[in-house]
Amino acid sequence: MQVARNLVVSFDYKLKDEHGEVIDSSEGSEPMQYLHGVGGIIPGLEKALEGRAVGDSFQVVIPPDEAYGEHNAKMLQTVSRKDFGKDQDIELGMRFRVQTNLGPRVVTVIDIDGDAITLDGNHELAGETLHFDVTVRGIRAATSEELEHGHVHGPGGHHHD
Ligand code: ZN
Repeated sequence: MQVARNLVVSFDYKLKDEHGEVIDSSEGSEPMQYLHGVGGIIPGLEKALEGRAVGDSFQVVIPPDEAYGEHNAKMLQTVSRKDFGKDQDIELGMRFRVQTNLGPRVVTVIDIDGDAITLDGNHELAGETLHFDVTVRGIRAATSEELEHGHVHGPGGHHHD
């Protein structure tokens, strides 16, 4: 079986930045699982997995436009400390989930200047070229429920309460 649309694929990966530093990895946990062909993972990785078989190992370099996008200066926003709850501690690097006109987003505190707090709504990997080492671990047909929901259920996947 080869990776194709509507199949559930599991894979191990190591993600490195341009300097070869490991940013993320499936090592020590279950392989990553996704439903192929529905945009559940970044486009460059989905494309690189197309047609692969179980046991295939490969490396792929993914530019920002096929990963988490370019860093967008419009997604920086400076707000006042008053906009946060009174007892809210605010520190550099903290993340908040906020509601924006583009839907819910995670923003990161990137600067604190007195009462002025600068938030960055870009994905933490925006603007990064990603270097993946990938090994395909499993391929199976998706259940009709998974296809309906557009994501994987069961171990390593999404669960419903
Ligand atoms: Zn579901």
